Amino acid sequence: MRSMVFQKPRTNLVTENRTRPKARTGEVLIRVRACGVCHGDLMVQEGMFPFATYPLVPGHEIAGIVEELGEGVDWLSAGARVGLSALGSACGHCAACLSADEFLCDSLGFTGVTSDGGYQELMVANAAFVVPLPENLDFVEAAPLMCAGLTVFSALRHAGYEPGDRVAVVGLGGLGEMGVLYARAMGGRVAVVSSTPEKEGDARDLGAELFIHAKGPDWAKTLAQWEGGADIILSTASSVASANTAFAGLARNGTLMLLGAGPGDVTVNPMALVMGRRRIMGSPAGSRMDLRDALAFAAKYAVRPRVTRFALEQAGEALSAMHNRTLRGRAVLVTN
Ligand SMILES: [Zn+2]
Ligand SMILES: [Zn+2]
Repeated sequence: MRSMVFQKPRTNLVTENRTRPKARTGEVLIRVRACGVCHGDLMVQEGMFPFATYPLVPGHEIAGIVEELGEGVDWLSAGARVGLSALGSACGHCAACLSADEFLCDSLGFTGVTSDGGYQELMVANAAFVVPLPENLDFVEAAPLMCAGLTVFSALRHAGYEPGDRVAVVGLGGLGEMGVLYARAMGGRVAVVSSTPEKEGDARDLGAELFIHAKGPDWAKTLAQWEGGADIILSTASSVASANTAFAGLARNGTLMLLGAGPGDVTVNPMALVMGRRRIMGSPAGSRMDLRDALAFAAKYAVRPRVTRFALEQAGEALSAMHNRTLRGRAVLVTN
């Protein structure tokens, strides 16, 4: 089978022909049909995760078919359509795991970081972390929901989103697009903030009612004038400077939600924090329950990511396109 591999950090992907893996006890073998390309994969390439294990097959937005069951796996069947996120395993006995919030577990296994991921034709996964795919989601549409979709869905949930809320999405990359789609489908009003004025058309097409060109530090004032500001700001850009600026665009009781973590510190005016009862939060991807809910919601309310398809061997090109921001929607590797 073909696998796309980083042999070590700061190298390009190479194609390897590997022998077919076997599902051991508690595992399943998945035939990968589609795998989304996430910024996390670029971080794997750059060697930014000290716990990553090379040589490594990246990829954690996986949609495929169960090919083979390991011993003891009786809740899945061969041929089942399944998905797998970055959450490859967790300890199962800590407080976070016991409250179905296992992405906060201290002993996580990360798909495509601590074990081989989805940039290949077949992969093994811990069967307990595989989720069923709703019938009306095809593999290519489902893949970007496994990280980008899950992350914004879980962030809105944990920020206390309510229908009708004004949601500002800062940055219109893969994560930002999913943020607009989910917030709109949940009955929210959406503003998009982007440093690229050419993205206004995309933002409007996705359902944003307001587009703010983030040029100079005054753009948050424009956001604050949007009927009192945003109830939730999804900061999908990793720039700390942009998060610091965005804070001034929050409504009273508003939440600034950080989904990316670049270098530097978030610093805000404490008086604005206190007097407006405002919050700053962060949120990682999400639990298995969040993922099931994000998929079910997408299936029912027609949340469908825009994708650009690449063949498995073009994974390097897909990574470059994401890095250079020349992609339309999410890059998805499609295997046959
Ligand atoms: Zn745990
Ligand atoms: Zn990701």
